Amino acid sequence: MRIGFIGLGNMGGPMARNLLKAGHTLTVFDLSKKAVEELFELGAMKADSPAKVAQSEVEVIITMLPASAHVKRVYLGEEGVLANVSRGVLLIDSSTIDPLSAREVAAAATARGNPMLDAPVSGGTLGAANGTLTFMVGGALDDFERARPVLAGMGKNIVHCGGAGNGQVAKVANNMLLGISMVAVAEAMALGVALGMDGKTLAGIINTSSGRCWSSEVNNPYPGVLENAPASRGYSGGFGSDLMLKDLGLASEAARQVRQPVILGAMAEQLYQRFSAQGNGGLDFSAIIRTYLKETQA
Ligand code: NAD
Repeated sequence: MRIGFIGLGNMGGPMARNLLKAGHTLTVFDLSKKAVEELFELGAMKADSPAKVAQSEVEVIITMLPASAHVKRVYLGEEGVLANVSRGVLLIDSSTIDPLSAREVAAAATARGNPMLDAPVSGGTLGAANGTLTFMVGGALDDFERARPVLAGMGKNIVHCGGAGNGQVAKVANNMLLGISMVAVAEAMALGVALGMDGKTLAGIINTSSGRCWSSEVNNPYPGVLENAPASRGYSGGFGSDLMLKDLGLASEAARQVRQPVILGAMAEQLYQRFSAQGNGGLDFSAIIRTYLKETQA
């Protein structure tokens, strides 16, 4: 298929590489010339603006951008996708943004005769590199079916979540829970250790008991519990605290718009906000346990 790809960062870069590997023809754009050159060397064609991507002969355009403001600029701006794309081209935004912005952009696209899906992902940079991402997709079912073979080149688990914006709804709900559960595991691990328990033994008990969750089992925040977790390498790599802060902010903002209380989500957001303000935004989000530990412990 002929695909336009805009946003070649930590996620978009490897996703675009997998589409090339799957045999698709790509026209790519990013503000970073280096990112564009890397894809060009692998066989993609270059464009120098979102408008140029839209004007090239593509059947599908995928975007993987940092946040709502970038998505709105790329789709709705004067030199953007919607002002330049042919009717019928399928638009897929895989950025993580708030559901209401996703619905606004999708409505503008539909009004111009372009079907649009929101398709945020989970699986991180490793999932992007290995082509094992989960796609949470919002939009019309027939558009979802049209997108499925393209998404299958980048992910393993491709789920239709309902109408426009629902992919983002699934993503913000899941990530809000993840943020809360990480803080909860950090608090429990720190308490157990402060009361004299060995961290590894405590994690073993939790992971065979009712407290078990992804944050305790796969990304335990206590150093030394899991050899391959960020906690055992100074919290480098993984999912940055600033990205978690962004996702908790999206959940709070979406909740505010429908007057839905998210009490623990807001507390987790504030904890990550303080953590980020202290200069820790680049550390894996499990490093939030440092809020609880004495300096010598982590
Ligand atoms: P990133 O910052 O590495 O990449 C974003 C890219 O978009 C950059 O290369 C930037 O130059 C480009 N860009 C920004 N504005 C642009 C514009 N106007 N036109 C063209 N290109 C533009 O971010 P990322 O880690 O790739 O994340 C992308 C999205 O995926 C975010 O919404 C993020 O929340 C989400 N996400 C990230 C991860 C992760 O582990 N990194 C996991 C799941 C979801």
